[in-house]
Amino acid sequence: MHYIVITGGVISGLGKGTITSSLSYLLKNSGFKVTNIKIDPYLNYDAGTMNPYQHGEVFVLNDGGEVDLDLGNYERFLDTDLTSDSNITTGKIYKEVIEKERRGDYLGSTVQIIPHITNEIKSRIKKAAKDYDIALIEVGGTVGDIESMPFLEALRQMKSEKENNMIFGHVTLVPESGNEQKTKPTQHSVKELRAIGIQPDILFCRSEKKLNEESKKKISLFTDVSENGIISVYNVRNVYQVPELMEKQNILGYVRELFGFDDHELNYTLKDFVENIKKPKEEVTVAIVGKYVDMEDAYISHKEAFSHVTGNTGIAVNIKWVNADNLINNIEELIDVDGILIPGGFGYRGVEGKIIAEKYARENKIPYLGICLGFQVSVIEIARNVLNLKNANSTEFNENTEYPVIALLPEQEKIKDLGGTMRLGSKKVLINKNTLAHEIYNSDIIHERHRHRFEVNPEYIKKFENSGVVFSGTDDEKIRMEILELKDNDNYIATQYHAEFTSRPLNPSKVHLYFIKKSLEYKKKRGKIYERSVE
Ligand code: GLN
Repeated sequence: MHYIVITGGVISGLGKGTITSSLSYLLKNSGFKVTNIKIDPYLNYDAGTMNPYQHGEVFVLNDGGEVDLDLGNYERFLDTDLTSDSNITTGKIYKEVIEKERRGDYLGSTVQIIPHITNEIKSRIKKAAKDYDIALIEVGGTVGDIESMPFLEALRQMKSEKENNMIFGHVTLVPESGNEQKTKPTQHSVKELRAIGIQPDILFCRSEKKLNEESKKKISLFTDVSENGIISVYNVRNVYQVPELMEKQNILGYVRELFGFDDHELNYTLKDFVENIKKPKEEVTVAIVGKYVDMEDAYISHKEAFSHVTGNTGIAVNIKWVNADNLINNIEELIDVDGILIPGGFGYRGVEGKIIAEKYARENKIPYLGICLGFQVSVIEIARNVLNLKNANSTEFNENTEYPVIALLPEQEKIKDLGGTMRLGSKKVLINKNTLAHEIYNSDIIHERHRHRFEVNPEYIKKFENSGVVFSGTDDEKIRMEILELKDNDNYIATQYHAEFTSRPLNPSKVHLYFIKKSLEYKKKRGKIYERSVE
């Protein structure tokens, strides 16, 4: 089995996920069967309960796993569906070990970090990697963190096991001071890695501009990493430029050399895509109205879906991040945008602002895409202002609302106290013929990922339908409403599912693509009657 471990040093947030994904892309497109594993050393069992402010978006897999957003990156670059086995956390490891201890599996021995925890880590990694040629393992956090120690120790041990071929890659920062690139942080970071018994084979050096020859020589001398293994990952505009940037420095040749692989030809599929991103022909500005807008990673899958649209159409998408709460007294921030997207969310904060944004889009026929909570916001706003159900709401936000247009289904109510009523993962969506959704998807059945508890209250469906609302998609029992559109407005669509999670570079989310095309049409139609904000 072949493994490539990617660790990080100096500071967090250097783009380890993008580097891991880009290398995965290159290897997969050279003919290898590749998978990714993300190690998150925190104690949480999974990302499900984590606040987006701290870790960014909670990504959802087909199997319903709520995982780190890096798994989204892997899926997009590898164009594959991963499972929850690809996200290993300290929480999962300890839970398993303690359960085994309680069952008596350890036959009375003292249960310790080495070997019990490390063995559990190794067995999880091997299980996730077993059907592949190469597994790339990204270790979250930075080397030196207490939490990641057992994982690095397990990986160090794996290197000496005969059946494993392992390469260690380390992501570091080369900052600039004056005009000089500074290599000292990299030297120190590698020293730290060596202190725990790991000698890196590859260094991915993050810097503003390309690493100069002098810095490269110096780093190589101090770290014992061959100059061929020092890859300069300088800043580029878009993450999808990174595979090409790394391959220009012959990363594949170097990895092949380390593993002793024969030559493989690379089928580089992103050429036109990247060209469109670098030189777009058109541009639109769309608002994302949310409550975590100063943490853009909280909505990373939407950003990525828009990149996919740009790569396929040459329409650049400027995102205007709008804090929903700011709209309550003043919708000025929405005046200059060509489209409005309301993403998913939990809790009442921001909801009234989102309702204002949706109403503004609906009444002015500005292109609108509502996703999950954005779909529920549509239902609430239309109930209030079209059906005249005053103060209609979701029972998530007001349990005693007179008009609970969004609510738990009766069977969910029964098990409410047990928790775990969240509807998660990929589910079948049936699309009705002769609807906008059918036109967009050109299919009767799609599979999309979900993460929500509340549903359109079945008692109100008829009322909505009598007022120009079309529920054009449902679940396969036809109980849950999945897609909402308006009879007289083809600029408007909302989905209960998270279309952004399945968007892929060469196969963008169909509703995001449609939304951007409509935004461009809208922009052209109304001409340049407003000052555009350029970000
Ligand atoms: N809070 C809503 C629900 O639980 C929507 C969830 C979401 O947008 N992901 O149903």
